[in-house]
Amino acid sequence: MAPARKKPDRRLPVLAATATLVVGLGVVPAAATGGGPDATGGPAAATPAKSPVAVGYGGAVASVDADASAAGIEVLRKGGNAVDAAVATAAALGVTEPYSSGVGGGGYFVHYDAKRHRVSTIDGRERAPLSAGKDLFLENGKPLPPADAITSGLSVGTPGTPATWDTALRAWGSRSLAQVLKPAERLARSGFTVDQTFRQQTADNEARFKDFPATAALYLPGGRPPAVGSTLKNPDLARTYEQLGRSGVGAFYKGDIARDLVRTVRKPPVAPGSGRVARPGDLTERDLRAYRANTQAPTRTSYRGLDLYGIAPSSSGGSTVAEAVNILERGDLAKLSEQTYLHRYIEASRIAFADRNRWVGDPAHEKVPTAALTSQRFADARACLIKDGTALTSPLAPGDPRHPVPCGTRGAPAPTPYEGENTTHLTVADKWGNVVAYTLTIEQTGGSGITVPGRGFLLNNELTDFNFVPVTPGVHDPNLPGPGKRPRSSLSPTIVLDHGRPAFALGSPGGSTIITTVLQTLLNHVDRGMPLADAIAAPRASQRNAATTDLEPALWNSPLRGRLEALGHVFKENPEIGAATGVQRLPDGRWLAAAEKVRRGGGSAMVVRASGRPPTH
Ligand code: GLU
Repeated sequence: MAPARKKPDRRLPVLAATATLVVGLGVVPAAATGGGPDATGGPAAATPAKSPVAVGYGGAVASVDADASAAGIEVLRKGGNAVDAAVATAAALGVTEPYSSGVGGGGYFVHYDAKRHRVSTIDGRERAPLSAGKDLFLENGKPLPPADAITSGLSVGTPGTPATWDTALRAWGSRSLAQVLKPAERLARSGFTVDQTFRQQTADNEARFKDFPATAALYLPGGRPPAVGSTLKNPDLARTYEQLGRSGVGAFYKGDIARDLVRTVRKPPVAPGSGRVARPGDLTERDLRAYRANTQAPTRTSYRGLDLYGIAPSSSGGSTVAEAVNILERGDLAKLSEQTYLHRYIEASRIAFADRNRWVGDPAHEKVPTAALTSQRFADARACLIKDGTALTSPLAPGDPRHPVPCGTRGAPAPTPYEGENTTHLTVADKWGNVVAYTLTIEQTGGSGITVPGRGFLLNNELTDFNFVPVTPGVHDPNLPGPGKRPRSSLSPTIVLDHGRPAFALGSPGGSTIITTVLQTLLNHVDRGMPLADAIAAPRASQRNAATTDLEPALWNSPLRGRLEALGHVFKENPEIGAATGVQRLPDGRWLAAAEKVRRGGGSAMVVRASGRPPTH
């Protein structure tokens, strides 16, 4: 890599001439969006129009779903702030994106407080039962087959999402939980229009959903995945939201919802005669009572004159993105050919994942050297491994962040274990300049597949994010299960400040590819001069200290692949990586919301008051 240089300031690009024209809160009747037969009686409310870019004043929301973005916009329009709108959007995603989010799961919340000029974060990760030990996923001394753990009570962690909403609203919100849950409660009651993505995700889960009567009743109307254009309602979830609004989240952690949840985990309600064995979990009412979402300091690193704030462990998102950008910062990526840029990005990701796998776990149980991992000194010691003419080979051994030695490694490599590609991310800004980046999940698409009867939400299977056995035999693994421990996450909600003011914020779903999606989008925008929406849309590569690097089709089919293979890179095609959203403060004071143009059927960017045409330079 190029030798150390002073960090230059870089002006951020704004919107490309090619960007889609602004769409505010356009409302299209369900019929006009293909509203067809109604699966559960009565029409859905009108479906808001979907656009990947919106520009204007009064605040902005970007999520994967138009109903969810509209819920956030409704709260902003009524005078709520970014935190109020983020919770409203997340609650609506619990209705329309129930396989990726919801009160049965967890997540990480990053908040920029415009008044105090401060970034804070909430760790709302699920926790293992207090009775869990290292052997949680072992049977007769052997790790359980993944499929047996995935659809089970055993993999259900104490949910952190209701506590996250409560903690965020108490700390920074201006509206009550009841007020911000209203749009989602309405949506759950009146229903939403099923799209192709939802139908496909249901079809992919049909074989296990049908074995759990409460899940089948909700998501397999008439015993089949709902038709595209039909209306799906969730009155049980509407009642759950109504109860949380009325009684507070105590009902979830101490009241009758807690009792139902624990009963469901301890004896998963399987359809008689289905033949399904769903292993029970040992979650107790004590586990639920003991749950707290942690308010904690963010990771922070400077990059090209900007300040990047992310999530500290228990997620590996903030530290791994920080290490990778620090590695890359010593060279000027703006001037490189596309080939060398991609090469260095892939190598930096490979190295950062080698270190993440060895060092990151739940800091309440493990000594995690977060400050050292995110230090420039460590990154410089690792950057010297990168050679522009030759690719590194994975699995690469980790370095020791506590004692950085140039090009040094420490011990055996720790490969990246498999993680799904699910989850959902939302980004919000308000008229006061507050910003939220919030990623939430129930782990894999459909979580455990188990719905709490009468409550309308799926339970997570987040504990499968633990390593069942050490990834490197004989080497300490910081991500083994433990009592009350949080499994390591890859969620990477990120807020970027420019001289203390918000510049942009972003995040993505996608399991361990979340980290590379956030990193690549950030580099595309900051270094390669792409407007945020184009940086999100650009084809992705993902290297996670594995023998192969994933490439989306546009890169797989490009001549760049052959040129990179000549350096020693080995690729495999991945049809789709991530589904990012972001917001950006434009120099003229407007907000820009950006979402996917194509991935996951396209995302939904909205602003409170659309204004003018997007800038062209
Ligand atoms: N459970 C994963 C994590 O927290 C995310 C799930 C996914 O995106 O597949 O990193």
